[in-house]
Amino acid sequence: MQDIKYLPGVGPKKAALFASELGISSVEDLLRHYPYKYVDRSRFYYLHEITENMPYIQVKGQILKFDKIGEGRNQRLSAIFTDGRETIDLVWFQGIKYVLEKYKTGVDYVVFGKPTSYNGRHNILHPEIDPLTQQAASGQLGLQPFYNTTEKMKSGFLNSKAIQKIIFPLLQTLKNGVPETLPAILLKRYALMNLTESLINVHFPKNAHALNKARQRLKFEELFYIQLSILRQTKWREQNFRGFIFGQIGHYFNTFYKDYLPFELTGAQKRVLREIRTDVGSGKQMNRLLQGDVGSGKTLVALMSMLMAVDNGFQTALMAPTEILANQHFETIRGMLGNLGVEVALLTGSTRSKAREELHERLRNGELKILIGTHALIEDTVQFANLGMVVIDEQHRFGVEQRSRLWKKNIQPPHILVMTATPIPRTLAMTLYGDLSVSVIDELPPGRKPIQTYHYYQNKRQELNKFIAKQVNVGRQVYIVYPLIQESEKMDLQDLENGYNYICETFPQYKVSKVHGKLKAAEKDYQMQKFVSGETQIMVATTVIEVGVNVPNASVMIIENAERFGLAQLHQLRGRVGRGAEQSFCILLTGFKLASDTRKRMDIMVRTNDGFEISEADLQLRGPGDLEGTQQSGLPFELKIANLAQDGKMLEIARRTAMEILEDDPTLSKQEHNILSLQLKKMNTNAINWGVIS
Ligand code: ADP
Ligand code: MG
Repeated sequence: MQDIKYLPGVGPKKAALFASELGISSVEDLLRHYPYKYVDRSRFYYLHEITENMPYIQVKGQILKFDKIGEGRNQRLSAIFTDGRETIDLVWFQGIKYVLEKYKTGVDYVVFGKPTSYNGRHNILHPEIDPLTQQAASGQLGLQPFYNTTEKMKSGFLNSKAIQKIIFPLLQTLKNGVPETLPAILLKRYALMNLTESLINVHFPKNAHALNKARQRLKFEELFYIQLSILRQTKWREQNFRGFIFGQIGHYFNTFYKDYLPFELTGAQKRVLREIRTDVGSGKQMNRLLQGDVGSGKTLVALMSMLMAVDNGFQTALMAPTEILANQHFETIRGMLGNLGVEVALLTGSTRSKAREELHERLRNGELKILIGTHALIEDTVQFANLGMVVIDEQHRFGVEQRSRLWKKNIQPPHILVMTATPIPRTLAMTLYGDLSVSVIDELPPGRKPIQTYHYYQNKRQELNKFIAKQVNVGRQVYIVYPLIQESEKMDLQDLENGYNYICETFPQYKVSKVHGKLKAAEKDYQMQKFVSGETQIMVATTVIEVGVNVPNASVMIIENAERFGLAQLHQLRGRVGRGAEQSFCILLTGFKLASDTRKRMDIMVRTNDGFEISEADLQLRGPGDLEGTQQSGLPFELKIANLAQDGKMLEIARRTAMEILEDDPTLSKQEHNILSLQLKKMNTNAINWGVIS
């Protein structure tokens, strides 16, 4: 592919900027750097048409005179500009010397920018100016593209305008056509614009309709190849990896079910267990995502799945994202197993080296059946005798790399069950985990009352204190979550240290636990345990308690500065209560002044307890790139033009199309599919091999 360095207006310096800032080095990369917005520049205004709050204006006319005002750093340049009838001031604070050299009085210019007013006169700060004669030549009559750039690029004279000036002439040379990347049959079936036309129109649209057609095609192409890539990997994996076969449901599972299970399984739990049972007995390696709202009872499903492995002579591991959670799982599971006779151990960052060595030994000789821990359990030194299944709790907290390391623990990969309480909207799941089978627990254990959620302003503190007292006096426990550990001078937010003092003073009769991320693990654990055992009635904490913690007697969750938290996080925090039979409450405290998005978040939380509805709303409000839990691991493929919040329908079509093609030709070796394997190869040269990762 042609290097952009040789394009007119680029050169080695700008090429280096393109490469380092945006990863663009070939002409093709550049053409795939799509504009993020367009501004209609087909219309010229007159100066008398300027009104309050116009986003921009484009006028024709001449500069009458320049005026330098002020000295040194306060210097500015002002020019009187006329459209032949009225005048306006053009103002520069920077680049004064450059402006004076470049622009002259008495020349016909096109001026573009946002009008503002100052001292009763209209003006435009740092306007865009082009000689009238050049305007058409730079492709600027019509919808003008705007390109993403970075600060570094801007200071290297590579702003959106400069990119536009590089791309416009390039497109003229394309008219003969670039090689098509989609099979003709798909172009025809979905009436898609061809690639050449699409590239031309996405950068410099002939009109709004053409732009729309171009974007449709490019979006489809993007989504289609992502799906094709994911699905082909899945096929490949199915063909190349055998899965351990758990042929029987045996002693441990059955005894546990008959004699140890403290309650009846919900219908959803039973269904999911059957799905898992089918997977692990099939001879294929399981890769299953278990979605279930907070409190839906995923831990039990995990435990019973692990017993299937143990019954078949395998070891299993359960990995949790935090020490608190790993500890809790360990306690819960050890408690539930009682004297069933299955060896369980805990491995975290705080496990002493002596105990650790002993544990390693028991893993290697196969004595230890269930290992529970943090990511400490995927360290290289940990070796299993025969690891048959791994469960990953709250999987969104883990990076993809960590998950992939599990694969290296065996020659043959273990069955993998990943669990999440952050329900992932369908479209996102299809992109992120397109190769996973999905199970859903869509039913809460019986007897739970929906949590009541209220949004209060911070001036309601007195009422809130009364409410806390009332709840504690009838035997309940209360969480209070703060956005900060310590007071910050920069931000006017409630902090945990002050909050702790305030609570201790306000409620001298109660005992208070304090948990945050800066505490030593042992101290955290001690504070947690005091709350779990009911010795303390109130827990002040940061979001370290967000994930998984289970104290059924806690019935109130108070979130200070709730405006600081995202929807997924708020929902997770709320999920810490409502785990017992009592009515639970969640109180969202905020300041008075709220941005409209924040207000919407509060309203959604008050309106619904449904995690799926919340995550859909989150996707709409924030866009997929920001969706909590995905920014860490990132989307496996960068989306340049498609938008998962908006293009769900198209994604489904793309996925179905890709599936049909692979059904017919799993290895894409038919002649007419050459174009597909060629494109996939191109995509995969830069991408990590996501297909082998859960
Ligand atoms: P999560 O899905 O959020 O991980 P947990 O596994 O922590 O939920 O379960 C939440 C609570 O519900 C626990 O106290 C657990 O013992 C209880 N629970 C799980 N399944 C059932 C059931 N079928 N009936 C009654 N309680 C259950
Ligand atoms: Mg859990």
